[in-house]
Amino acid sequence: MIFDAHLDLAINAIEWNRDLTESIANLRQQEAGATDKPGRGRGTVSLPEMRRAGVGICVATQLARVEHHAFSPVFGWHSAAQAWAMTQGQLAWYRAMEEAGEMVPICDREGLESHLSLWAESPSAETLPVGYILSLEGADSLITPAHLERAFGYGLRALGPAHYGPGVYANGTDASGGFNARGRELLRETSRLGLILDATHLCDECFWEALELFDGPVWASHQNARALVPHMRQFSDEQLRGLIDRGAVIGAPMDAWMIIPGWIRGKTTPASSGVKLEHVVDHMDHVCQIAGNARHVGIGSDLDGCFGTEQTPGDLDTIADLNKLRGLLEKRGFSAEDIEAICWTNFVNFLRRTWK
Ligand SMILES: [Zn+2]
Repeated sequence: MIFDAHLDLAINAIEWNRDLTESIANLRQQEAGATDKPGRGRGTVSLPEMRRAGVGICVATQLARVEHHAFSPVFGWHSAAQAWAMTQGQLAWYRAMEEAGEMVPICDREGLESHLSLWAESPSAETLPVGYILSLEGADSLITPAHLERAFGYGLRALGPAHYGPGVYANGTDASGGFNARGRELLRETSRLGLILDATHLCDECFWEALELFDGPVWASHQNARALVPHMRQFSDEQLRGLIDRGAVIGAPMDAWMIIPGWIRGKTTPASSGVKLEHVVDHMDHVCQIAGNARHVGIGSDLDGCFGTEQTPGDLDTIADLNKLRGLLEKRGFSAEDIEAICWTNFVNFLRRTWK
């Protein structure tokens, strides 16, 4: 089993126009020659491929930004109402996948355990639904902080207040400054409702403020180490320690520019840089060294998060290749138990603690 803590499935379905019930080969063929979006013809994720890979459970996002800050290839909307509508469209796609038996929402402890038993007891994953925990990446689309309760009502269980650039509630990657008053109200709502706070994308000021103001469960769904790739998108050792002290699990992303230093988007390639999955293991190992154990690392691949194989490790062709991490971790001296912890049980146990 693999637990992937960060996949933008609905964006791929709706904005990239990918029918994720298709095979990777079909999706690539459909997009051959297209250049309208990053990663065209180079997708790595689909639901059949996730089943083949044993990715039986993931954190799947809703994401719609307000305004285009030129910080991200993700389109920004001119108003919160439009962004909200976009996330509701994304939710509608998840619901359609549920009705088709392709996916199943996991919102509580009972749902988590029954999904894990289903996967453990089935001889083949071929017909099993992929379980997902719904997370909102960037809070811009919440028209008011009170909209978070509505979102909780339809199954939202994690929230990352910011994305790239300055946001409506908080400042994200490449921005600076703390939470505004509405952002602090949103943190209180997040705590009151018992949602998980996703620290990923918070700028340094917001990161430390969030740890101080928010008393609930925290994770970093797709997050590498600044010590290895010096950019504020990554977390410093002090930040990683702060997360570990809070019991967080930190998911390693497969986005090449966050894996090795000096990557220039659209220019550097996996071949020219030599970026491989073993470089991801460097980040995992770094977090383990800070923690003194392997209980705080997981996978948050972010695959097909507005990029394809032009920006992934050279030895990763599809999401199924996440399984190669097992052998690489073993070579690095991790025990069989620690490898399973990193591949899935750390995040599962985080949810068990959160939803006890
Ligand atoms: Zn992200």
